[in-house]
Amino acid sequence: MKILLIYPYCLEDRLHAEDAGIVPIGVYYVGALLKKNHYDVEILNWYNINKTPRKIQALLTEKKPDVIGFSILNANRWGGIEIARIAKQIDPGVKIVVGGICATFLWEHLLTHFKEIDFAVTGEGEYAFLELIKRIEKGDYETIEDSRGIAFRNGNKVVRTKPAEITQDLDELPMPAKYFKYQHVSSTRGCPGNCTFCGSPQFWGHKVRFHSPGYFVDQLELLYKKGITFFYFSDDTFTIKKDRVIEICKKILEKDLVITWAAISRVNYINEEILHWMRKAGCIQISYGVESGSEKIRDSLNKNIKTDQIKKAFALATRYGILARAYFIYGSPGEDWNTIRESIDLIYEIKPLSTIFYILDIFPGTALYSDFKKRTNLTDDIWLERIEDIMYFETDPRLSRDLILAFGKELRTKYHAGLPSFVNAVELINDKEFYKTHSGFLSRLGMTFSHGDYSMIEELRDKEKIAERLFKKSLDYYPDPRAYLGLGIINQKKGAFDDADQILAEGIEHFPRNESLNICMGITQMNLGDFKKALSFFLRLQDSKETAQYILQCHQKLGLSFNGRPR
Ligand code: SF4
Repeated sequence: MKILLIYPYCLEDRLHAEDAGIVPIGVYYVGALLKKNHYDVEILNWYNINKTPRKIQALLTEKKPDVIGFSILNANRWGGIEIARIAKQIDPGVKIVVGGICATFLWEHLLTHFKEIDFAVTGEGEYAFLELIKRIEKGDYETIEDSRGIAFRNGNKVVRTKPAEITQDLDELPMPAKYFKYQHVSSTRGCPGNCTFCGSPQFWGHKVRFHSPGYFVDQLELLYKKGITFFYFSDDTFTIKKDRVIEICKKILEKDLVITWAAISRVNYINEEILHWMRKAGCIQISYGVESGSEKIRDSLNKNIKTDQIKKAFALATRYGILARAYFIYGSPGEDWNTIRESIDLIYEIKPLSTIFYILDIFPGTALYSDFKKRTNLTDDIWLERIEDIMYFETDPRLSRDLILAFGKELRTKYHAGLPSFVNAVELINDKEFYKTHSGFLSRLGMTFSHGDYSMIEELRDKEKIAERLFKKSLDYYPDPRAYLGLGIINQKKGAFDDADQILAEGIEHFPRNESLNICMGITQMNLGDFKKALSFFLRLQDSKETAQYILQCHQKLGLSFNGRPR
């Protein structure tokens, strides 16, 4: 029996592919349980396949699935439906199952309106899906009502069985890393928060469940051995239990995992000791939902955090060289120019080095959605429209599209205007133990200005100068290959090839095998007219594909044939 688990494409292209393009970790857990039960399972990330529907047809024809499970959010539900239609055209006997947060809250709507969907798995999916697969395999559809966590069409009616039992001990679940390779991991299920715009509280319930530190770090180790060195810890709130987080960090260090990772938390679940250990164990970024500078708006969203907690959480993370990212939401109930001003004021106080601004959206499974249905008398049929979401402002006569666009522009413009001063204000803890990680933090930040996200923002001034300062500051702490490279490239761009030569030579002394440094040095030598010396750097990199063109150019300049022999 062939099972495909597909993460389908969204209706709209995403700005942040890192958020939308990632197969949710839950799919890997489902896949692992099926594999453990000896099923033939394949996980397919089709978030970007919509440009080529013919490819979908070809791939489904080739793979001949008996069952396709789609993991759907609101944004990619149409992708799932469209792929399901193609699959049913190829083989009307294929069974289509939808799961995930959208299926959990819109099962009735989906099964009522979309005949290509046969089943929905609602809530926690591992055992419910396995049970369903066993019944499909046996052709046992008569007793399906006895299984849990499943919705299906029974004659003309859409029915749902009893809710699935939740897995109390998460470590019981087979470890997905034994079967798959992925970067997004999670050590918990659930969140102590209860924000009105978030689906987590209704999906997981209010009781948070935890993997043991041993299970979680064993998983990291398995993935590390498969070549993953950067992880996203996608727990809703990673730092709920201090001792547990510290134990995870200590285990990462004991196992000598040379990894970096990004985590998500709430500002009221963080303290200095936790951040100290997180940084030691490789954490380079922490995201906090701030949502608004207005306490009134935060309260209306039930965010339940205080301004002092926000300030403290950002200051502490930055001191340890962890990039503190602030999530802000605008266009909330009660938003006006005063509350936008309050958000900007808060931004200037907490000085975040990374910020994401979202317009408030309404999704099924949230308190906002229940309120929206009450206010408007609309039903789930609204999702028959080809829309990904409902913007809150569209439902509030006090807000308009033009006003929301103006709010967004003001927030981003003011943030970008302040960013250089936020960078200047960074004060890192003066503790020798952290000098090496401080160096990495500063060079990484420098790269965002010289080559990364910030380099593409026109209204940001003096990007190269900021980057240069950061690279120099980085090297004041500890030798760092990114900082040497950054300075080398900046000097090259300025035409200061002697300075580039000097800084790159220093870098290569510390990191003789670093490919980027050697290539950059070779190019510098070419610009200085010393092709023999340039060649010596390129030839160090026997396996590099990038050097071939440069080696050829050097051979030509030196009057050698393409293979380096005298002509
Ligand atoms: S803290 Fe984050 S995950 Fe928890 S309910 Fe609020 S938005 Fe959702």
